[in-house]
Order: sequence, then C-alpha cells, then structure tokens
Amino acid sequence: MSNATYTAAVVGGGPAGLAAGLALGKAAGADVIIAAPPHRAAGKSTDMRTAALFAGSIELLRNIDAWDLIAPHCAPIAAIRIIDDTGSLLRAPEVVFTAAEVGRETFGWNVPNAAPVSGLHAAAVKPDSRVSLHETSGIARLDIGPETATLTSQEGETFEARIVAGADGRNSICRAAAGIETRTWRYEQAAVVASFHHSRPHRSISTEFHRPSGPLTTVPLPGLSSSLVWVERPDVAQRLVALNDDAFRAALDERLQGLLGAIGAITPRAMFPLSGLTAEAFGANRVALVGEAGHVIPPIGAQGLNLGLRDAATLADCVATALADGRDPGSAQVLDLYSARRRPDVSSRIATVDVLNRSLISSLLPVHLARGLGIVALHALPPLRRFAIREGLQPSGELPDLLKPDGARLMHERSRSGARPTAA
Ligand SMILES: Cc1cc2nc3c(=O)[nH]c(=O)nc-3n(C[C@H](O)[C@H](O)[C@H](O)COP(=O)(O)OP(=O)(O)OC[C@H]3O[C@@H](n4cnc5c(N)ncnc54)[C@H](O)[C@@H]3O)c2cc1C
Repeated sequence: MSNATYTAAVVGGGPAGLAAGLALGKAAGADVIIAAPPHRAAGKSTDMRTAALFAGSIELLRNIDAWDLIAPHCAPIAAIRIIDDTGSLLRAPEVVFTAAEVGRETFGWNVPNAAPVSGLHAAAVKPDSRVSLHETSGIARLDIGPETATLTSQEGETFEARIVAGADGRNSICRAAAGIETRTWRYEQAAVVASFHHSRPHRSISTEFHRPSGPLTTVPLPGLSSSLVWVERPDVAQRLVALNDDAFRAALDERLQGLLGAIGAITPRAMFPLSGLTAEAFGANRVALVGEAGHVIPPIGAQGLNLGLRDAATLADCVATALADGRDPGSAQVLDLYSARRRPDVSSRIATVDVLNRSLISSLLPVHLARGLGIVALHALPPLRRFAIREGLQPSGELPDLLKPDGARLMHERSRSGARPTAA
C-alpha cells in the first residue's frame, strides 16, 4: 500500500502515455508517476504496425530526449505519391507531394510501433526524467476528489495526483471515471498490416493506391523494406490474413503492379477493423485524455499517433503554465483550456479522414467526380498543394512549445519561473 502524492499521474504505457509522462515531467517540471503494464522489449513486441510521424512529433520526441533512441529504427519519408486505382471513368492523375516543395528534407519518419515505446521507456527510466515508472497489471479504480484523484492498482496500491493523464487506450477507465461521454462509429472495412522486403528501392517515397475498397499504402522502412497498410472489406481482409506467405505475396504483387520490384520476405499479417471514436470533451474532473483514450481515427493519412503526441505536448503546455502561475494543474480551468486547444485539431483530422475514405468507397458518380477534381486541383495548383501539405503535417494555429525546435528550452524557462509541488 502506498499513498504518495504526485502533481500528475499518467495511466497507460503506450507511446502517447509515455510521451505525456516525459513531457509533463522532464519539460513541464511536474512530479509524475506513470502506471502501466510491464514494458515488453522491442524484440519481443508482437505489434506489426508502424507509424508515420510528422515533423512536429519528431520535435516533441527530440525535446523529451527520446528521438536519438528511436531514430536508428526509422526511415525518412521524403515524398508521398497518390495513385488513383479506383477504376473510375474519371481517373485522377498521379500526384506526388515532395517535402522539398515546402522547404523540408522530409515529411517525417516511419517508425515501427515498438521503437517509440522502447525509446520513450528508456528515456523515462533515466534519473533526470522526473518520472517514476510504476509497473502494474492495471489501474483498477480512479476516485476523483475535490483536490486530487486517487488511483488504485489491481495490486491494491494507491496514488494521488492533482491531474491524471488518461492514456489508457480506447477502452479508457480514466475516461469513464471522469464521466466523459464518447461518440463512436464503424466502417465496413479492415486494415491488413505487415512489413515486407522488396528488390527495388522505395526512394523514401510513401505510395497510396486509392482503391474502391479503401487505400493501400506502402511506407518506407530502412533498406529495401516497407510497411504495408492495406484497407479492404472485412471479409476480404479476413481472407488475406489467412493466406500463407506465398499466396499473400502473390496478392500483394498484383496490387503493387511492380512498383517495388519483386517482393521478398514478409512478416506475419495482422488485421485491424476500422472504427472511430471521439470523446465529447478531452478533459474534465481532474482527467485529461491523451491518445486513443480521447480519439481513435482510421489508419488513413497517418494521423492517429501524431494527434496523440500533440495531445501530450499541449497538456504539458497547459500544466506548465498553471504551475508557473501557482494554479491547480487539475482545475476545471486548465482542463477546459486543454480540451478547447485539442478540439479543432482532432475534429478536423477525423472529418478529413472520414471524407477521404467515404469518397473512395462511395459508388456515387458525383462523389468520384468531386474527389477526382480535388486531386486534379492538387496536381495543378502549387499554392493549394503547399497548403494541403502544411495542413496535413500539422494544424495551423497555436503550437505547443514542445512541437517547436527549441521547445525544451522554452518549457524549462517557463517551469523554472513557477511553483514546483513535491511528491509526498
Ligand atoms: C493499422 C494502423 C496503422 C497506423 N498507422 C499510423 C501512422 O502511420 N501514423 C500515426 O500517427 N498513427 C498511426 N496509427 C495509430 C497509432 O497506432 C495509435 O494512435 C497509437 O498506437 C495509440 O497509442 P496510445 O498510446 O494512445 O494507445 P495504446 O497504444 O493503445 O496504449 C494504451 C496503453 O494503456 C495501457 N492500459 C490500458 N488500460 C490500462 C489500465 N487500466 N491501467 C494501466 N494501463 C492501461 C495499455 O496496456 C497500453 O499500454 C495506426 C493505427 C493502426 C491500427
């Protein structure tokens, strides 16, 4: 039994939770406990997913001293190619967006999911992180009081915190304890995920085939390898994951039309039904929702974890300001501000991904026409392309410090000027 009191507690040891813990501890100067199931070393992870992380996410990881531990496992994405494979009468032209068009070397990096979790975990256990990692089978209860919230682990330990970052995934118990409602929806689609070797170089280009059942996307990995997110109707996806290596390779070969040459070794396949979730508020009752606890978005356009990392950076901003002003970091005022700052980003990403996906799977000619014209416009109009690229990478509007190149210094100066509550 323990009754230590922390400024902030994070529930969940996924990438969003670990990043939030480090952002709150290392950068915002809060005393933080992260309560999460035991960490699984990268080599033992069964997660087949990769995440394309954009520039702001990489800045955050740099600012919390995790990027150098993650970078060796990643590959840069210098261009994104869209190929219309809908078979529509109004076939749109191929479009290639390059990072150079907006003055960058890369759009971001493709990261195997196990790498950020391992890198962030290694950064969190360093003595200067101001983060205590507490291994538990899970937090079983969260009781919200007027001054603090009390977390009780399945092993019976208790911790108090003035603010709780609920980063416990889509079935968040933190969200339920805070009484935050959700809106959920499903798509009649599922994503088949794998990584594979190929004979032809990807030249750091990620390619999206827009198909009537959903996009099929290849994303560069180091060397002659790429990750795959192949969206299909659920029954077709089910059949694909059941294929043996040779049959799956042949099916993929047909879809890629020789783009990456001959397909070599391939990892086991995993399937993810497509669904969406958004919380009605991102903070209430001493709980701030971070990552998939607050929003689940289909794996189209590589937005999910980028949003989760922006949650972490924004929460650190809000908490640092409250601490610097000597205010309660878990107050309704701070949580309302956090929620208001996250709402436009999350809503616009959900809407964009939804419209893009539905425009592909729709059988209506006007919808195909509108999508085709949109792509033609992107093809032909450089200012529109640049706008689309910038908005796709990061929302316009107020940026939290940790998404800026000198964010660690900015945050450090802010937290140094403020009150610093101590762990009991
Ligand atoms: C096929 C696919 C491709 C994707 N590609 C991209 C991409 O290219 N780019 C991108 O940005 N995003 C992508 N995403 C989204 C990204 O994978 C997710 O946003 C991200 O993994 C979610 O991280 P998280 O930390 O929020 O949640 P999770 O990884 O689900 O972590 C939740 C954590 O909470 C823990 N937990 C749960 N309950 C409790 C409890 N009671 N007590 C303590 N701990 C608890 C869990 O054990 C886990 O550690 C993709 C998703 C899919 C499905």
